[in-house]
Amino acid sequence: MSKLTCRTHVGILTRLLVISCSLIVLVAAQDKGRESKSVLFVYGGWEGHEPEKCRDLFVPWLKDEGFTVTASPSLDSYLDEDLMNSVDLIIQVYTMSSISSEQEKMLLTAVRERGVAVVGWHGGLADAFRNNPDYQFMIGGQWVAHPGGTVEYEVNITDHEDPITRGLSDFTVNSEQYYMHVDPANEVLAETTFSGEGAYWIKGATMPVVWKKKYGKGRIFYTSLGHSVKVFEIPEAMAIVKRGILWAVGELE
Ligand SMILES: [Zn+2]
Repeated sequence: MSKLTCRTHVGILTRLLVISCSLIVLVAAQDKGRESKSVLFVYGGWEGHEPEKCRDLFVPWLKDEGFTVTASPSLDSYLDEDLMNSVDLIIQVYTMSSISSEQEKMLLTAVRERGVAVVGWHGGLADAFRNNPDYQFMIGGQWVAHPGGTVEYEVNITDHEDPITRGLSDFTVNSEQYYMHVDPANEVLAETTFSGEGAYWIKGATMPVVWKKKYGKGRIFYTSLGHSVKVFEIPEAMAIVKRGILWAVGELE
């Protein structure tokens, strides 16, 4: 065999290998039905809620699930029209920050008009922008207190039929128990009851811990769990977030 023929054969084999590999990747993505699903993961704000650790915990899982992920440390991503027109889901971990009116408008419009989904937890979604009631109207709640600081509390699953909480048992968390102002239109999947520790007058009050809702065409999923990534070591807490993400993009009905 001449050197030239040999090189040609190697070239053809390489090309076949590349095509085969591409097909395998395509088939794998199609198996999960997510070849076109794209996620924008926006992280930042107050460091106490471990935005980078949240990114490092969830972005690899999202990629394993076949999502295309853009991770961004800036709310300016909401101003990127091409990006906002291409994403299916926004996950936001951005506590106690401020959002410009243009950033807020682009975010809310993408959700309400285009049907982009929004998922988040704890303060990263529901204590992100204290001065923005339009944003809070979209999320369905705003943190106002966590009486007693870090306390042991029970999360009670209230909807055992919903695919997000189906099969899960009640569980105990040692963390902040969020007291929130919430939207009565939320579809509540789990709740917690306050003992009165740290604020005796709210003893016996029940509060949503997990909810889903709509905002225009978009789906919103939220849980108040997740003060630190350690909370997601509780299998039920992790399952709730992962299932919430899949529900938000229409893959868990
Ligand atoms: Zn917290």
